Amino acid sequence: MLDLTPKTVKERSALRVNPCKTCQPVGAMYAALGVKGCMPHSHGSQGCCSYHRTVLSRHFKEPAIASSSSFTEGASVFGGRSNISTAAKNIFDMYDPDIIAVHTTCLSETIGDDLGSYIMDMDIPEGKIVVHANTPSYVGSHINGFFNMMMGFMNYLTKKTGTNNGKTAVFPGWVNPGDIRELKRIAGLMNVPTTFFPDQSGVLDAPMTGKYDMYPEGGTTAEEIQGLGDSEGVIALGEIIGAEPAELLKKKWKTPYTLLPMPVGVTYTDQYVLALRRQSKTEVPAELEAERGRLVDLLLDSHQYTYQKNVAIFGDPDVVIGLTSFALEMGMTPKYVITGTPKGEFTRRIEALFAKYGVTGCTAKANADLFELHQWIKNEPVDLLIGSTYGKQIARSEDIPFLRAGFPVLDRYGGPLQPIVGYAGAIRLVEQITNVLLDRFDRDVSDEDFEIVL
Ligand code: SF4
Repeated sequence: MLDLTPKTVKERSALRVNPCKTCQPVGAMYAALGVKGCMPHSHGSQGCCSYHRTVLSRHFKEPAIASSSSFTEGASVFGGRSNISTAAKNIFDMYDPDIIAVHTTCLSETIGDDLGSYIMDMDIPEGKIVVHANTPSYVGSHINGFFNMMMGFMNYLTKKTGTNNGKTAVFPGWVNPGDIRELKRIAGLMNVPTTFFPDQSGVLDAPMTGKYDMYPEGGTTAEEIQGLGDSEGVIALGEIIGAEPAELLKKKWKTPYTLLPMPVGVTYTDQYVLALRRQSKTEVPAELEAERGRLVDLLLDSHQYTYQKNVAIFGDPDVVIGLTSFALEMGMTPKYVITGTPKGEFTRRIEALFAKYGVTGCTAKANADLFELHQWIKNEPVDLLIGSTYGKQIARSEDIPFLRAGFPVLDRYGGPLQPIVGYAGAIRLVEQITNVLLDRFDRDVSDEDFEIVL
């Protein structure tokens, strides 16, 4: 269906075709769902809220709860103060959350609603909390919305009592619940007491119990967010998504932080493990060393099938940086690497990886779109495409093997439950990448070379 994409690439500055990102409130909603007993609230019209909930529900195959200020023409002209006040009262009365996390939309940002003052004037029931973040969708992407909401929670809740709580705060960034479980497991093996913020495990991968629970067991508690200022330190994962929240915590509460890439692949997982070792001052356990060894063994075994294969990778910046680093560790050539999030730092990080591994003729671009990626592929094809479901049309049109990874994956099941981070996640990725290439080999090979053993 994308067969008519033209080969000729023309310079564009004010137009995105098939964007490789979504809008800020989606990120704000996802961050808020990682807080226990929290109702994400969309301060705008119902259509925005429906879209944001839908994309999250379709990726996680779980209900993504959220409420809306339900703007109509009146609020658009006179402002949404009465909408948010009435909404907060109704939400606390009817749905009884511990926290309402309000994010703005394009409309409420454009009319200039001052949520800080609206919330200050609200009649909030005893023991309940309302926080907010500004998430205008005409700048940034869902990634900005995610860290803006994190900072919204911290601005309202975090304190410093002066007594160290002995915990290491981990900001896992935008990853799936399966990834958070794996990051927690590694921290547990390293004997590091942690607070993960936000933490969607147990919320967007809640088990089926036969009973609907609007606020499942998982999520970072309000007390844990309050205590972030008393942490031993912060490990912020994802150099794009983690930098601003970690910097805020340092500026306001002098909490030191270590900023690391998303631990995808050998090198980046090593960095996470070493950062945990600095916190716990214990040796890396044999269990984790053995996992790493199994991964390296698998990389050696499969190397002949991945070496010098050209791959195009697209998606959210930190996940893409991790996948690019791992593709290079697998001996692949990341020919095209793009993100839709407008962060120049992304391009610098990817180009530094190209230089480190000595690969040439590769392109990295932030604020890019899938139309342009498709045009590049039409001019110089690749052996594999890795990214969200939105790549499937390019893969079909160009007949390229395609591996779904990142957000959103709308047309496959089980992904959010499985990690791509850590040594275990990397083993899963090697299996998927190698096997998708071997499936293609088997499909195309002549009968006399169609082997049982590869
Ligand atoms: S109007 Fe803005 S906030 Fe609403 S769905 Fe569109 S881009 Fe997102």
